[in-house]
Amino acid sequence: MARYDRETLVRWDRDHLWHPFTQMQAFREEEPLIVSRGEGVYLYDLEGRRYLDGVASLWANLHGHRRRELDEALRAQLEQVAHSTLLGLAHPAAIVLARRLTELAPPGLTKVFFSDDGSTAVEVALKLAFQYWRNRGQNDKRLFLKLSNAYHGDTLGAVSVGGIPLFHEIYRPLLFDTLEAPAPYCYRCRHREDCDLQCLTVLEEQVAAHQQELAAVIIEPLMQGAAGMIPQPPGYLAKVREATRRHGVLLIADEVATGFGRTGRMFACEHENVSPDLMCLAKGLTGGYLPLAATLASDDLYQAFLGDYTEFKAFFHGHTYTGNPLAAAVGLASLDIFVRDRVLEGLAAKIERLSTHLAEMAGHPHVGDVRQLGLMVGLELVQDKAGREPFPVARRVGHRVILEARQLGAILRPLGDTIVLMPPLSITLAELDELCRITFEAIRRGTAAG
Ligand SMILES: *Cc1c(COP(=O)(O)O)cnc(C)c1O
Repeated sequence: MARYDRETLVRWDRDHLWHPFTQMQAFREEEPLIVSRGEGVYLYDLEGRRYLDGVASLWANLHGHRRRELDEALRAQLEQVAHSTLLGLAHPAAIVLARRLTELAPPGLTKVFFSDDGSTAVEVALKLAFQYWRNRGQNDKRLFLKLSNAYHGDTLGAVSVGGIPLFHEIYRPLLFDTLEAPAPYCYRCRHREDCDLQCLTVLEEQVAAHQQELAAVIIEPLMQGAAGMIPQPPGYLAKVREATRRHGVLLIADEVATGFGRTGRMFACEHENVSPDLMCLAKGLTGGYLPLAATLASDDLYQAFLGDYTEFKAFFHGHTYTGNPLAAAVGLASLDIFVRDRVLEGLAAKIERLSTHLAEMAGHPHVGDVRQLGLMVGLELVQDKAGREPFPVARRVGHRVILEARQLGAILRPLGDTIVLMPPLSITLAELDELCRITFEAIRRGTAAG
């Protein structure tokens, strides 16, 4: 690509580029950070200023930017073919990646349906669950149960099973009906002193009461990401699995954010020895290089779609770039890095170091709640710690903090007033120290009065 000076790029950015999840009126008044390259856990802007990528380029990057093995795998695949369809054809990278994913996944997930993004992986899971019951002649089973504050993507099916009012409410007239159970949110729960998993009881009752119409329960296992990094109490997921199994309801685990080592295990479901019927993967699937997603399914689910051609039981779904060879080749190389570098084994020390830093930040008068699962962190900032009272929305405290962090050399992205940390798994202990030092200083500055 030809080189353009910063002034031109800034002007064209403001004139033409509509950024996702962004109020463009405010954005156009700020100086945009234009990333020109990356190396390891760092991103560099046009002037060569360095920023630690504290949210792994939106929760996707695993092994660092410009990772040699991934770059090489991409180039090698490029020497073969950039794209060929999976509709009626196969290619080696997709075949082998499907096999490798089923070997890594919780037991029972033996089939892989590729797509492009987390949202499409969720759409596929929803449609598979729905059609599964149709194909088996149980047409009443058409409802989905979701959790409050759930986030499963931005396409309309995924939005239907979303529970974040700010993102989802406006589209309500376009969405299909769902059941909703209250998600655990211990920091703001009125049962925090007498917790007996009351939230779970509601879910169990709903599953029991609606088993005739319920196709599936969909959940972000262990940690609701976009809700603000809100963890579920130990045992919760296993109990959800128990309830769904007992009442003949499918369980969809959306591991788009939690998958590929973020929680300290390859998949979050492993912490509770849970095998869902369907599992959605995306973000980290290619190490954060290219869009690729997968929906894993059980053999029982797959069997329900088999039949004579004229029965029309096939799954009529597929995107043009589904299982793209370049992306699949990089995904395979990413899985190789997990093995060769013993990535999961190396996480414990990083998780512990992060905990140490977070314990210190927890003492700050505006840090209300610190939530950590592996290398996924949410720091909920509040105006009044004792009363757990949020800052006024108009102060945009979360945004102020990340602008301070940017000045100090780290890229973060908040969820409201919750500061998220989710560094690449490859981050070193020294780099973690740097990220936490910057984050803490940015919190001090961003929450200071005035
Ligand atoms: C990001 C995310 C999605 C959506 O993925 P996209 O690739 O952005 O479409 C779905 N589910 C969860 C849990 C996510 O964090």
